[in-house]
Amino acid sequence: MAFLNISSVYKRFGGYTALENVNLNVRQGEVIALIGHSGCGKSTLLSMIAGLSQPTQGEILLEGRPLKGPGPERGVVFQNYSLLPWLSVYQNVKVAVASVHRERTDGEKARITEKFLQIVGLWEHRHKKPGEISGGMKQRTALARALATNPKVLLLDEPFGALDALTRATLQDELLKVWDSTLEDGFLRAIWGSERKTILLVTHDIEEAIYLCDRIAVMSNGPAATIGKVVEVPLPRPRDRREMLESRAYVEIKEELLHLLTVVYARKAA
Ligand code: ADP
Ligand code: MG
Repeated sequence: MAFLNISSVYKRFGGYTALENVNLNVRQGEVIALIGHSGCGKSTLLSMIAGLSQPTQGEILLEGRPLKGPGPERGVVFQNYSLLPWLSVYQNVKVAVASVHRERTDGEKARITEKFLQIVGLWEHRHKKPGEISGGMKQRTALARALATNPKVLLLDEPFGALDALTRATLQDELLKVWDSTLEDGFLRAIWGSERKTILLVTHDIEEAIYLCDRIAVMSNGPAATIGKVVEVPLPRPRDRREMLESRAYVEIKEELLHLLTVVYARKAA
C-alpha cells in the first residue's frame, strides 16, 4: 500500500471536467513534483489532497485511510502565503505550533518555534510583521510554519513562483536544508523520530522540479487533464546545482519533460 494513494480521481466544476481519472502513488519520504501547464488542474488536485475540496469521483488515501477534510498530518504552503498580517514572524509560527502540538509544554513549543526560525535564517527578524519583510522572507516563514507543525506530508503549491530567480534558487536550497534538518537535528529527531517528510511540490519550473525531486508527475492539459507520465530523477543527493546543470542526466530529463509538455501534452490553441 502506497503512503499517499490517488485512485481514479475525477473533479468536475458544474459541467466542466477539470480532472479525469487521475492516479498516483506517492512513497513515504520522497519529493515528488506535479508539473503541467497553467490551468491544467495542479492546484485543484493539491487542494483535494489538502482536504480543502473533495473529488467528484474516486478516492485519495493517506496511509490507507480516506481523507476527510484537512488535518495536521498535511502542511500546506501556497504561492501567496497566508501569514497572519497582525502577528510577528515569531507569533505566526508559534500560533501554528501551539494549535497542533497541544500536548507539548510551553517551553517545548517555544523551542520548536525557535529551531525552525533559526533553520530558515529568520531568528533575527522574528519580531517583524509580514508587511515589514520581503517576499522571500515571507515564504521562509510559511515554510518554517508548515514544517514546525510536524506534518507527514508537505504540500507546496508553486511556493517560489512569485519570487525572482535568485531568491527562488536560495529558497529551493533552504527547502532541502529544512527537509534534511528535521532528520539531522538531535532535538527534533528526539521528539519527532527519524522519518523523512514526504513533499509534493506543484511547479511549472522544469529546473526546479529536477533539482528538488525524486520523481516528476507530468500532467496533460485540461479539460479532463490527468497525470500522464511519471519521470524518474535518478540524480544522487546531496545535489549541487551547477554540477547538475552540466550533467548529461539533467539534460536528458529536461529534454524528456520539454517534449512531454510542448509536444505530447501541448497547450491547445486558445
Ligand atoms: P493550475 O493550478 O494547474 O494552474 P487549477 O487547478 O487552478 O489549475 O485550475 C484547473 C481548471 O479548473 C481551470 O480551468 C480552472 O478554471 C478550473 N477551476 C478551478 N477551480 C475552480 C472552481 N472552484 N470553480 C470552477 N472552475 C474551477
Ligand atoms: Mg495553480
